[in-house]
Amino acid sequence: MSKILIADDSQFMRGILKDIVEGAGHTAVEAENGTQVLEKLVSESPDLVLLDIIMPELDGFGVLQQQGQQAKFIVISAVGQEKMVQEARAIGALDYITKPFEASAVIAAINKALE
Ligand SMILES: [Mg+2]
Repeated sequence: MSKILIADDSQFMRGILKDIVEGAGHTAVEAENGTQVLEKLVSESPDLVLLDIIMPELDGFGVLQQQGQQAKFIVISAVGQEKMVQEARAIGALDYITKPFEASAVIAAINKALE
């Protein structure tokens, strides 16, 4: 069992991802903007972050640039342009899932990141 930080400004999306994460036997914590992600990397020490890109205050790219490799990151974003996927991977995202997604794709990416 791992602790997974769900970072998305949409409460609805956090709820969907929380069900997937908890259904896979992991513990879920949540953040609704990039500033909260950076705070919770320290206070919660998550093993993995499911990271939205478009969020208020600090976006997902800002988080990837400022995080100190304290956790692993999977981006889950509605924006799936190849340039953004490559940029996210270049600054530390292990995987990049586009919305809408299948739960099985999220679980597969989590399992791969945590193996
Ligand atoms: Mg968003």
